[in-house]
Order: sequence, then structure tokens, then C-alpha cells
Amino acid sequence: MIPTEKIYSADDSKYDQKSVSARLEALFLNNVGLVVPREQIIAAARNPITGKEPENWHQRLSELRTDKGYTILSARDWKALKPEEYVLANVERRETAAKRVRPTPATWKQVMARAENACEWREDGQLCGLKEGAIDPIGGGTVKLTPDHTTPHSVDPNSDPTDPTHWQALCGRHQVMKKNFWDGATGKVNVIAILQAASVEQKRQALSFLEQFFGRDR
Ligand SMILES: [Zn+2]
Repeated sequence: MIPTEKIYSADDSKYDQKSVSARLEALFLNNVGLVVPREQIIAAARNPITGKEPENWHQRLSELRTDKGYTILSARDWKALKPEEYVLANVERRETAAKRVRPTPATWKQVMARAENACEWREDGQLCGLKEGAIDPIGGGTVKLTPDHTTPHSVDPNSDPTDPTHWQALCGRHQVMKKNFWDGATGKVNVIAILQAASVEQKRQALSFLEQFFGRDR
């Protein structure tokens, strides 16, 4: 999955797709396996007419991973990369990134009322409880609650948007955790994704744990 060699893209094409996401997607698809640094991303993300640099390109980039299912490597996945260097590993997209169903506005209102405007994520029986608009003490930034599907999308995508019991309100941090680190279909934690997202120090701790577990000379 990780390229054998670190080669920088020399792409200076103009991207004139309508949205920031579409321009970034085109940029990465034109540079599969190559390192695309921050400056190139910003250049491609710019509004082709006004030249304005979008503030939210980081968000759009992470949506290419979470919503479109692309494997975009960063320094967290491949040690050779510097911060803000990215590589689209291949053109394949993960199946989990099927199109998103959303609750209707009325259903979402009901969900938020049940949730009392607070994140409904539970871990070891402990409710997250971060309130909409509060400051996230761990992740920083203002909490924005968004709908999360509590059952796999395949169950019944047609009736779901109107059934509040199929949805929960989650803060941004727990949305990311659930999308990347937890497989809704199997209910299992995605250990590899967690390790990829972990800091170098956390990776070292995990490695030393594994070395002890298996014995160094395995
Ligand atoms: Zn939360």
C-alpha cells in the first residue's frame, strides 16, 4: 500500500472543477503514488475564477478519505512523508464509503431533542455529552453535532431518514473515531486505523508492547 519510493509530483495543471472536493479529487487522481505537498493542494483547491484560497481544504481532503473512501497517506501512515505531504496510494475506493444517507430535517430535530443537544457517544458506559456549540476540551474547537447512522447503511436506506431511532448525534471527534476506527458492520475496533492515526510516540509504545507480547526474537 505504501509506495516503494518517495517521488514528488511536478503537477502544475490548472484545476477548474466546480467544487474544492472535485478539484482535489482530480489532483490526486492525476498523481497516484506521488507525493503531493501542501502548496500543490492549495494551488489546485483555489477557486479557478477568483483565485481565492479555500480555508477548509483540510476538511475537504479528509472527506476524500472518509466519504469517498480513498486511501490518502500522510506522515501518520508513511514515515518518509513530512507533515502536510500526502499520497493517494491507489485509485481504489473502500466500499464503506458508499453514498451517505442523511436523516430528514424533522428526524434530526427529534434526534437532537432526545440527545438534549449533546453528543451521544458511549464508551465503557460513559456518555460523551459534549454540548452543541461548547468548546471541545480534548480536540479543541467548537462542538458541532452531526447525524450518525447507528446501523449499517445497507439495512434499509429508504426508511432510515425518517426513523430517529436509527440515528444518533455525535461530536466531530467521535464522528471521526467511529468512521475511521470502528467498523459498524462487524462492531469491531479497527486496530490498524488507530495505529495509523497514533502519534510516533504512541506507535513506539505499541511496538514495544508487541515486541514483549511476541518476544523480540520471534
Ligand atoms: Zn463526543
